Amino acid sequence: MPETLPQPELHEPEFRFGEGRISGALGLFLGVVAFGGVLCFWFPSLLTSPEARALYAAHLGVFRAILETALVGAFFFGALSLAWSKSKKQGCTALLLALAAALMGGAQAKVGVVESRPFYFGVDYFLLELLALSLVFIPLERLFARIPTQKVLRADWWLDMKHFLIGHVGVQLVSFLIALPAHLFFKWAVSPAFQAKVAAQPFWLQVIELLFLIDFINYWIHVAFHKVPWLWKFHAVHHSPEHMDWLAGSRSHLVDTVANRALPYALIFLMGFAPGPLLVYISFVSFQAVFIHANVRWTFPGLRWVIATPEFHHWHHCKDAEGIDTNFAVFLPVYDWLFRTAHMPGYWPKDLGVSGETLPQTYLGQMAYPFKRGA
Ligand SMILES: [Zn+2]
Ligand SMILES: [Zn+2]
Repeated sequence: MPETLPQPELHEPEFRFGEGRISGALGLFLGVVAFGGVLCFWFPSLLTSPEARALYAAHLGVFRAILETALVGAFFFGALSLAWSKSKKQGCTALLLALAAALMGGAQAKVGVVESRPFYFGVDYFLLELLALSLVFIPLERLFARIPTQKVLRADWWLDMKHFLIGHVGVQLVSFLIALPAHLFFKWAVSPAFQAKVAAQPFWLQVIELLFLIDFINYWIHVAFHKVPWLWKFHAVHHSPEHMDWLAGSRSHLVDTVANRALPYALIFLMGFAPGPLLVYISFVSFQAVFIHANVRWTFPGLRWVIATPEFHHWHHCKDAEGIDTNFAVFLPVYDWLFRTAHMPGYWPKDLGVSGETLPQTYLGQMAYPFKRGA
């Protein structure tokens, strides 16, 4: 069983709910999911990821049921908020979104024409990830919070949501930039015979190889982003949240995101791992990347030096002098142990964020931050 470490004294974030605002936020959230979902049904070519369309077609009933649930929930919580809350803004917006979704056909909306387009927005990716992650992590963080006073809508959540939104809706651009170096510089080195050998290895071995090889690359990229001053300006954006939760990990500069994934992509491109192990690896790391930022107090006594946990990564995000420039590995603490950068003293860090510099608190300000003179 996970155990709890001693908790430091922390200041409660300033953002607080009033009566009825929880139902307003829930209604608004479900209204956005319902309206966005109906838009995806209407305009699949523009708003959905081409790779996922076959999955949607094969399980249309499931996605209609999700849409129906979100729609009913948006009406219910929107109405509840309208009845309870002094401020009618959230309830009204939730009901308007739900009404618009219902008028456009709701869960029975017709699927628009699917045609090949050069550009698309990953609205489907955004909505489904948002729904899945909030369903898993919000209850988890409420039940097992490291900092119980931290709210779901804590300070700066909206800024992090913008990072999450742009990273997902702009998935085509991000994926293109990540794949670009491999296609530009490493195409000549692709060997089908070598790739066939790699893909013929046992499933579990390929997953382990992916974990060890990619984490080794990411360890050193991460060290470079901390130690090289002009690279740090990009990475400082990821370190700027002062409250950690499942959403905080989304805060990242586009250059940082692309640089961290382009080299691992090139390795996968060259090695030619089989699709099964690749899918297991990607699913695992996608979940883990969110989990290590979560406001969860579990410390996993038997596993804490085997796999990165919230305890391990919260120390990486701390301002406390003892934890600066430690725990660079993304998934395997063994690299920090090997290169003498590991730090898990058995208690949690006190203050999180960037020490000694103040970053802008807007999305565009953060994107521009590394390019500002004297920043
Ligand atoms: Zn870092
Ligand atoms: Zn992080």
